[in-house]
Amino acid sequence: MTRALFIIDVQNDFTEGGALGVEGGAAVAAGITELLERHRGEYDLVVASRDWHSGDDDNGGHFAVDAEPDFVETWPEHCVAGTPGAEYHPDLDTSSVDVHIRKGQGVPAYSIFEGTDDSGASMAELLVSHGITDVDLVGIATDYCVRASTLDAVEHGQHVRVFTDLVAGVAAETSEAALAELGHAGAVITESTVLDEAAQ
Ligand SMILES: [Zn+2]
Repeated sequence: MTRALFIIDVQNDFTEGGALGVEGGAAVAAGITELLERHRGEYDLVVASRDWHSGDDDNGGHFAVDAEPDFVETWPEHCVAGTPGAEYHPDLDTSSVDVHIRKGQGVPAYSIFEGTDDSGASMAELLVSHGITDVDLVGIATDYCVRASTLDAVEHGQHVRVFTDLVAGVAAETSEAALAELGHAGAVITESTVLDEAAQ
């Protein structure tokens, strides 16, 4: 087994006080840092993604420009490349992150598989080059980017776990629906405490 941790979009704009802040986002950032303190050694690769939009257009209709955002397909302006809102939340310790993925440059991009690392490698290529077989997923938002990234990881043949204590969603109802969908798709929906149980 070669295991990766995917940390999805733990950015200032997706946490409390951000342009598209979700409740519980800051706690997720701190919780992931704690997970890394205790279990970093169990991961062969730690990957973190950031939504990284263009600031001078609507990113393919992703930003609501002349209308109110519907919070399904159109959103308030968020995570513009190079702005504080696009940075990782300060409570997330990124010092042990191996690969940084950026996505959404000029387009809507919910899944980490739609992005590339600093050298232009896609997530699919990185899974192959690192021989990854298992992926644990945490981050924001449960009902959008965590959902899309999990479905793609399953699609790429990974054994996937989603830690429900380390995700936060836009809305309770859609987050619950997303977790149910991910379970049906083949992901294991569990909590990060399984890492402690495995260590005993
Ligand atoms: Zn976005």
